[in-house]
Amino acid sequence: MVYLGCHLSCGKGFRAMVRTAESIGADTFAYFTRNPRGSKGKDPDKGDIAAALAELKEQGFGKLVAHGAYTMNLCAADPEARSFTASILADDLRRMADLPGQLYNFHPGSHVGQGTEIAVEQIASALKTALEPDYPVTVLLETMAGKGSEVGGRFEELRAILDAVNDPRMGVCLDTCHVYDAGYDIREDLDGVLAEFDRIIGLDRLYALHLNDSKNPMGSHKDRHEKIGQGSLGTETFRKIVTHPKLQGKPMILETPNELPGYQQEIALLRSFTEK
Ligand code: FE
Ligand code: FE
Ligand code: ZN
Repeated sequence: MVYLGCHLSCGKGFRAMVRTAESIGADTFAYFTRNPRGSKGKDPDKGDIAAALAELKEQGFGKLVAHGAYTMNLCAADPEARSFTASILADDLRRMADLPGQLYNFHPGSHVGQGTEIAVEQIASALKTALEPDYPVTVLLETMAGKGSEVGGRFEELRAILDAVNDPRMGVCLDTCHVYDAGYDIREDLDGVLAEFDRIIGLDRLYALHLNDSKNPMGSHKDRHEKIGQGSLGTETFRKIVTHPKLQGKPMILETPNELPGYQQEIALLRSFTEK
């Protein structure tokens, strides 16, 4: 089995997110750790979190996948912007200590002309600083579409960051729209792409997936998500993904252009594939 969920708003706290997840048939979910502008997040309410964690356990949820703000860029050319992002990362990881064992995922960043090599060093050095030895969190680099100067469009780039950080708490979140837009043919050759992922990164480093169809063809480097089955990947690709033996047990998060009823339908559809 796989765990299925979607992005939820964290405005009303953790218990509210768990309730919403249950109401749409989800058994995992994602949320932004702070508002998308990257400003100060709310102070966590420990009672709310404790109640939510108990409920997650009771209901058999998979791991949650917290998402760092989109505006974070650990390899910004401007040193001030870079250190601002690094402090947000450190703050996010510190807060994840309230949710022991859960996953935190973020976009590696855009090197804006500095080149990938320097970017990899900058990203790794921020991660090494932010990941205090006692933090019980797994930090996931997201596979990117390779739009503009985005780092993480090639598996080799993620491998380079993992090598440079050299911490067992580091892993990868595979976004289906992003990898397809980056040129990995998960539609016609899912096995081949997973084999390449295994060869370069290692499937033991794959902790979570983002399930999104793509508005654009393979290799377009666009990063425009589409509803499941309505894009260039198509329904069959997602049937193969949720039933793939190498992807079992993982949380899979929808980031499709939907409101809750749409997510509920997509979760039901994907679950129906796993029940045969
Ligand atoms: Fe993302
Ligand atoms: Fe994503
Ligand atoms: Zn995306």
